[in-house]
Amino acid sequence: MTTTAAHQLPEQLPELDWIADPLRVGRLSQDFAWFSPVLKRELAGKRADIAVRPRSEEEIRQVVAACASAGIPLTVRGSGTGNYGQCTPLQGGVILDLSGYNAFGWVRAGVGRAQAGIRLADFDARAKPLGQELRWLPSTYRSATLGGLFGGGFGGAGSINHGPLAAPGNVLAVRAMTVEAEPQIIELRGAEAMLLHHTYGTNGIVLELEVALTPTVAWTECIATFDDFDAALEFADRFGSAPGLEKKEVCFLAAPIPEYFTSLAEHLPAGCHAVLLVVAPHSEAGMRDMVAKHGGQVTYRKTADEVKAGNKTLIEFTWNHTTLHALKVDKGLTYIQSGFNPARRIEQVKALEAALGGEVMMHLEFLRTKEGAFNCSGLQIIRYTTEERLNQIMQIYREHGVQINNPHVYIVEDGKQNNLDPAVVATKQRFDPLGLLNPGKLRSWQAVQPLRQTA
Ligand SMILES: Cc1cc2nc3c(=O)[nH]c(=O)nc-3n(C[C@H](O)[C@H](O)[C@H](O)COP(=O)(O)OP(=O)(O)OC[C@H]3O[C@@H](n4cnc5c(N)ncnc54)[C@H](O)[C@@H]3O)c2cc1C
Repeated sequence: MTTTAAHQLPEQLPELDWIADPLRVGRLSQDFAWFSPVLKRELAGKRADIAVRPRSEEEIRQVVAACASAGIPLTVRGSGTGNYGQCTPLQGGVILDLSGYNAFGWVRAGVGRAQAGIRLADFDARAKPLGQELRWLPSTYRSATLGGLFGGGFGGAGSINHGPLAAPGNVLAVRAMTVEAEPQIIELRGAEAMLLHHTYGTNGIVLELEVALTPTVAWTECIATFDDFDAALEFADRFGSAPGLEKKEVCFLAAPIPEYFTSLAEHLPAGCHAVLLVVAPHSEAGMRDMVAKHGGQVTYRKTADEVKAGNKTLIEFTWNHTTLHALKVDKGLTYIQSGFNPARRIEQVKALEAALGGEVMMHLEFLRTKEGAFNCSGLQIIRYTTEERLNQIMQIYREHGVQINNPHVYIVEDGKQNNLDPAVVATKQRFDPLGLLNPGKLRSWQAVQPLRQTA
């Protein structure tokens, strides 16, 4: 191992909690990019030189000032549950682990505020006694942080009501630090705050977030199973979009995906298609009527108290946890992410099932889009053969008019089909003028750099 400027930092700032052990630094340099055989290969060996776990804003400021002065790259990390190597440094340097910067702030009139490193489960545990809960829970909510969800996530259970984080009004403000020899702290509100969203920590260190909340509900969790793909799909779609039936999660899993859920096997008849449901108690009867009308049966039911007592929630079988459970059984699988056309969603799902069924297993999450339309997005599980075939499958999806958010790339723009708001780059100029934050992940920044230097 060569000694770098980053290795000198503990001498300069001895009071801080540094992690230099190569094994631990290696672990902190990784996330769940191994879901993708492509990313696993491309990111192999990429790691930080050292990690640090600051406990206060002052400690964060000291690290940032020292890195900015010495030109050392800095990669922010929450809990490292991202899927695209988002917290894997491409150019070494320091991992700034914010999991210890995690104080809960307050809840007032439907709004909450906390430090970025707070775990989502801890936030909810503090908010619920005050009658409020988070609007979206990624299936990783037990470990994922609020800052990490904002920096690298999309949404989760609850997005069926409130859309993704990116929908206006969900995230109200961020307090962020610039990366300069004399770091500044800036509060951004509304649309300006969203310029730091889903940019993999490349354009500002988020210290605190203020988010809109929703009144607490004692959610019941159920599984409905069906013999027929179309009946299960139509039930999920109709129940999901029924305006009077209150729910937090509707997850459609075509056969054979339910077979990967070994710990739920007794509730999942062989060969079934399953819909996982998180529903308000007063909407359960209406939900059951709809299940019966579509020829299904409810095979699993737990009240909120039972979920809490058993410490087992169906949310941890939805979103990308579905992929995780499948990968535990069969390492030869991977996945894609897709967004259907709200006006043609069912027709598109059926056409793609007919075209690729067997090789591509249909997993849909029902939600509202950023603009408010009812829709479904896919986290389809793929029987992986080659990278070329994986790309072909994604192309077939595009040819059916479905958007692919490619989870096999680690550059911000590549995951967004190159639809990056140019204001994001301007924000990076303001918050990270030296280009030290997670360098190599924001291609548009690299493209403008040579022009700036010669100007
Ligand atoms: C099994 C599984 C299931 C998942 N399910 C979902 C899901 O339901 N919905 C969903 O949206 N995602 C999901 N994900 C992805 C991931 O869990 C979420 O995005 C999660 O919220 C990330 O939080 P984290 O604390 O682990 O962030 P990390 O992985 O540590 O960081 C994510 C990105 O944000 C940046 N970042 C972290 N903290 C800050 C900060 N304070 N300031 C600036 N940048 C920061 C990092 O540099 C990194 O680029 C899933 C992943 C897995 C492996």
